[in-house]
Amino acid sequence: MAITTTALVLTRPSRTGGLEHQVTVDGETLTPESCTCKAGQRGVVCHAALSVAAGPALLALAHERWAQSCGLDELIASAGLYGRVVRNRRAAQTEIARRQARREQTRYVLTAKGRAAIAKPESAAPVAQAVAA
Ligand SMILES: [Zn+2]
Repeated sequence: MAITTTALVLTRPSRTGGLEHQVTVDGETLTPESCTCKAGQRGVVCHAALSVAAGPALLALAHERWAQSCGLDELIASAGLYGRVVRNRRAAQTEIARRQARREQTRYVLTAKGRAAIAKPESAAPVAQAVAA
């Protein structure tokens, strides 16, 4: 059976209620290459691209290619691809965990302006400001 290696497009929902992310995956290497979101257009790896790399879909495709391999050369190549997808998946999961930890370190502190606003509740001044820990 011929193994198709055309580019894939996997979608993930927006976190902010915007347009869904359309992540293009290289069909040959099963590696996310780009995303249609603003971050993706600037070359920044967005949460959707990480989600695709960390998820089970690419691993299942790599396994399918390995299972369909015919001959030693194809078997070696597909096993190498599977290993690369596993390593990419692990790296994406590590990055997701790193970003999650960074988000959890962000805390809110009461500023002098916030204290003043609390003292005068009718004021519309911001009460707290996000500060990275
Ligand atoms: Zn994106």
